[in-house]
Amino acid sequence: MKDERFYKAYMEHRTVSRRGLLRGLLKGAQTISDSSPVNHHQKAEVIRPPGAVNEAIFQQSCTGCGDCVSACPEFLIVLNASLPELDFISNYCTRCDRCVQACSTGALQSSLFNINARPELNHACQNSYMYCDSCSGRCDKKAIQWQSGRAPVIEIELCDGCGECVFVCPVKALEMVVI
Ligand code: SF4
Ligand code: SF4
Ligand code: SF4
Repeated sequence: MKDERFYKAYMEHRTVSRRGLLRGLLKGAQTISDSSPVNHHQKAEVIRPPGAVNEAIFQQSCTGCGDCVSACPEFLIVLNASLPELDFISNYCTRCDRCVQACSTGALQSSLFNINARPELNHACQNSYMYCDSCSGRCDKKAIQWQSGRAPVIEIELCDGCGECVFVCPVKALEMVVI
């Protein structure tokens, strides 16, 4: 049984493979009822892998197969309640795109490559008492502006959420937070 809303919402996001669309439709038919329309503005409460589609559609289309988990060379992706999340504890995303390529359902898409998290300064920056430019020096997106004797300015609109600045900060002053 097809769910028209799921189909429409899904096609707004991508051209999907037949296999992926069928999987999504089957899963959508199981979980969407007439009283629960697709919420196009639903935000994820956890950090999804790069290129994740809108959260409501993601939850419908991801089958929890774990292919993205296996594909990530940095071991960043974990399954939680059968859905993938990023765990930045031990590494950062190198933007290799392998997770997206591994996803056959369209839950992850290269055209949307971005991570729904941004770095936030949650502890004292070392540069306020000892020279440090570790984060700004490593940001490929030039999203961190170093400032003399104080914490850097993070331009979140330039950032794609890779988490490298968090990983390299010697005093763990930065933390990735869901946006
Ligand atoms: S883009 Fe590469 S490094 Fe980043 S989460 Fe996907 S597989 Fe892992
Ligand atoms: S590969 Fe795609 S469908 Fe499989 S767990 Fe990852 S996001 Fe979900
Ligand atoms: S998360 Fe990545 S892109 Fe964003 S500011 Fe940090 S290093 Fe730059």
